[in-house]
Amino acid sequence: PLSSGQTAKPRLLVMGLRRSGKSSILNVVFNKMSPNETLFLESTSIMSRNDILSFLDFQLWDFPGNLELGDSTVDPGLLFQQCGALVFVIDAQDEYIGALRRLYEVIILAHRLNSTITFEVFIHKIDGLSDEHKIDTQRDIYQRLHDELAESNVHDVHLSFHLTSIYDHSIFEAFSKVIQKLIPQLPTLENLLNMLCSNTNVEKVFLFDTASKIYIATDSSPVDMQSYELCSDMIDVVMDISSIYARTQHAKATPSGYLSLQPPSTNGGSSNGRAQASSNAAVLEAAANGMARDPGLAIVEDDESHATIRLNNGQALYLRQVNQHLVLVSLLRDDSFERQGLIHYNFGCISEALNMVLMPESPATAAPHQLHI
Ligand code: GDP
Repeated sequence: PLSSGQTAKPRLLVMGLRRSGKSSILNVVFNKMSPNETLFLESTSIMSRNDILSFLDFQLWDFPGNLELGDSTVDPGLLFQQCGALVFVIDAQDEYIGALRRLYEVIILAHRLNSTITFEVFIHKIDGLSDEHKIDTQRDIYQRLHDELAESNVHDVHLSFHLTSIYDHSIFEAFSKVIQKLIPQLPTLENLLNMLCSNTNVEKVFLFDTASKIYIATDSSPVDMQSYELCSDMIDVVMDISSIYARTQHAKATPSGYLSLQPPSTNGGSSNGRAQASSNAAVLEAAANGMARDPGLAIVEDDESHATIRLNNGQALYLRQVNQHLVLVSLLRDDSFERQGLIHYNFGCISEALNMVLMPESPATAAPHQLHI
């Protein structure tokens, strides 16, 4: 049976019918499983609870698809009271009327018990759908749900829809959006990142959870998929290189050297960029795989670690560790590195400030210094 839990941490619930893809999503996002491996996953059959994203202590509850809400082992009151967001996974490649009925029941029940819950509908497995079909499916699901809720006179539900697939970055992007809504400090984090972009040569910056590659904040310029994918792939690249150093030298690896990688083609679609980025990552990964990898390895222990990847289109990627769980990854102009010391200094200031916002109870560090242009 569920217990009330010892804490009042924001909780993320993941629900959906059997075979909708819940275990696959959790394994791909949080356990680095490759999407193809999920074909052999056992369907979720037991209720499990994983503590994830230790930087903010989110909890993730995974439910079997056929869970009866009236089941005596589950107290819906306890279940929904501390729940921040409820992610409901719908298999878009299958007939979804049954799933919608279940979602409707869950919303009615959960909303009655806790009206602050945000409902996040993942219209999942969209990799098998044409673009037109995706939009039609989303519109249809939205309309049916909206009509049913309106008929029951339920109006003030926080409901969002995301098109997702484990075969691309859409699942990470969707989780980023879900999790951002649960972070009370988000506006302050965004302000800090905006400050970095407006005062320095940084064009785009993401604050990532290293373990899951979910970004928890970014500056307010629009997120373009290509930059996002490059930045998130860089985490893997740096992790792999770090693991080589950690294994071979038994020393703290500080990968601050330059790697020369191909940028995404400027006239191609985002899939081109993605393919190029992943082939770059694959080459490095292959090199890293030559060594036994330590799966539990963080990038490095040193909070000031950084890495730079120069692209051959005049841009560069810069990664900077903020703390044990978080990294900043940014896209900036290559010529900024003429004054490399300044970049390290400015990112140092922002990291310090981010740590102060996220962990105000930790021993006060000196007030962050001013950014230099
Ligand atoms: P669960 O019962 O909800 O935990 O579902 P599973 O995670 O066991 O997934 C059921 C099947 O869906 C597996 O064969 C997965 O490989 C497949 N699957 C999960 N996510 C996706 C996706 O994004 N696209 C496609 N095409 N298949 C997926």
